[in-house]
Amino acid sequence: MENSILEIERYAKEYKIPIMQKEGITFLTEFIKKNNIKKILEIGTAIGYSAIKMALVDENIKIISIERDENRYQEAVKNIKKFNLEKRIELINKDAFDVELEEKFDLIFIDAAKAQNIKFFQKFEKNLNNNMYIITDNINFHGLVNSNQPLKKNLRQLVKKIENYIEFLKNNNHYQTKFYDIGDGISISVKR
Ligand code: SAM
Repeated sequence: MENSILEIERYAKEYKIPIMQKEGITFLTEFIKKNNIKKILEIGTAIGYSAIKMALVDENIKIISIERDENRYQEAVKNIKKFNLEKRIELINKDAFDVELEEKFDLIFIDAAKAQNIKFFQKFEKNLNNNMYIITDNINFHGLVNSNQPLKKNLRQLVKKIENYIEFLKNNNHYQTKFYDIGDGISISVKR
């Protein structure tokens, strides 16, 4: 098991696939354990690293994970088979904005296109159980958020969108959000 996790980490490094930083994934899996989370929706599977790590927390955990990139999705399918987790991790190879789900989840983990965080949040919040959580990764975005560093236009626009997302979370009265300086920055929003 440990070997296969290392293989995924190595593959991600070699092919420059952005997966969660170690500190971030440890924090996330501990949070899932502590809060007895059982049903998870993940936006942004990449090659299945975080989905596998989350599923390994407890054998009663079920995950639906969405990935729009065909190659990454195929790699995720292979990785999930290696861990015999096909019954507990359902992968959807679509753009998340084209996915309609009826089910409710204890945790929605947003880790996809950073500029779209508000839209992902608004699209899937109806799928969240009361008093449950929306977690978002890359809230600090390599330390660039609120840093006032001179940046190229595209990057500046992306950083601005993440800053807007942070404001959106702070001003959203339906949720209480805490921000953690862990990994690349993580927010946890609890539905009131
Ligand atoms: N959660 C993964 C992990 O830690 O192992 C990493 C996910 S990676 C940071 C983000 C992924 O989201 C990319 O593979 C990208 O193709 C996918 N993505 C971005 N926008 C998406 C969308 N609108 N719908 C589905 N997938 C999307």
